[in-house]
Amino acid sequence: MSVLVFAESQGGQFKKSAFEAVTYGYKTAQVLGTECIAICLGEAGNAADLGNYGASKVLSVADSALNTVDSQAYTSVIAQAAEKNGASVVVLMHSATGKGIVGGLSARLNAGSAPGVNQIPTNDGAFRVKKNVFSGKAIAEVELTSDVKVISVMGNSFQPEVVGSPATVETFAADVPAARITVKSVDKVQGSVPLPEAEIVVSAGRGMKGPENWGIIEELAELIGAATACSRPVADTDWRPHHEHVGQTGVAIRPNLYFAIGISGAIQHLAGVNSSKVIVVINKDPEAPFFKAADYGVCADLFDVVPRLIEAFKKRKANS
Ligand SMILES: Cc1cc2nc3c(=O)[nH]c(=O)nc-3n(C[C@H](O)[C@H](O)[C@H](O)COP(=O)(O)OP(=O)(O)OC[C@H]3O[C@@H](n4cnc5c(N)ncnc54)[C@H](O)[C@@H]3O)c2cc1C
Repeated sequence: MSVLVFAESQGGQFKKSAFEAVTYGYKTAQVLGTECIAICLGEAGNAADLGNYGASKVLSVADSALNTVDSQAYTSVIAQAAEKNGASVVVLMHSATGKGIVGGLSARLNAGSAPGVNQIPTNDGAFRVKKNVFSGKAIAEVELTSDVKVISVMGNSFQPEVVGSPATVETFAADVPAARITVKSVDKVQGSVPLPEAEIVVSAGRGMKGPENWGIIEELAELIGAATACSRPVADTDWRPHHEHVGQTGVAIRPNLYFAIGISGAIQHLAGVNSSKVIVVINKDPEAPFFKAADYGVCADLFDVVPRLIEAFKKRKANS
């Protein structure tokens, strides 16, 4: 028995979420009294580092065909590793890649699956995990009764924890299926923190009045190392790119700190952000629904508050 964790990498480097996944896998392995094994696919330079987060060994499949995401190939290779290592639980992140794998992998392993979990499983005779449902309005406790279980973990639910030391990296000789898709081109957003991975997010809505005013949002985000996000109408009207749209129909995020600037706080927006650890709302309308979800609220004109915040952060940076 073991817990197998798929550690995602990009351009040869692990994403932060890979360390979150291994931390989750390690804690799950502790609950089950077994070991946590990590697997990385394609080029991954610092594979041994996964041991720091609790992997007892790392399986590496350094086939260049796996350098770009191919859900079918990834599913096949992870399933082979799970079977070979007697994995009773397979852990993925609930990322775009993880979402593309979780269903197929569960079918292939004849496993029960729980996508989008946000707590460490319990195993007091029954193996149970928890996840948010109904746009974060309720928590479902799911019991998995199959021999093999596949779990995908919501990003930012667990901070990576260093618990060990670099692990042995073993080559895993997988049968990598021929690709049935060809990636023609990849357009990457340059220079900014990826939204699903961001610990701080500065998000703005229609209260900004127009795209020409976004300079202060970008400046604030850059100062505090945050990703930028927006409400849906802002993306729909092309004030901001669609990949920044958060909410029920956009990206769901769980940053440690979420700034909601000039956003009303409609239920569909909240659905994607209400798992943020701390929410700061800046809105000039005291009746704005977002204040009900806020940890801190500033009821004022954003064009007055945001420049002052920028000045304050600049001063803090200069003094540190
Ligand atoms: C099926 C469906 C799915 C949806 N999915 C999503 C989704 O995924 N994400 C999403 O965001 N929306 C979604 N929506 C839309 C959602 O219902 C809201 O219409 C939208 O979130 C409102 O965007 P907003 O808050 O930016 O704009 P508004 O509702 O226009 O609010 C602007 C806010 O800015 C404040 N404001 C204005 N000027 C200032 C100022 N100078 N200083 C400070 N505050 C100011 C106002 O008081 C107001 O609260 C969806 C809707 C439907 C029907």
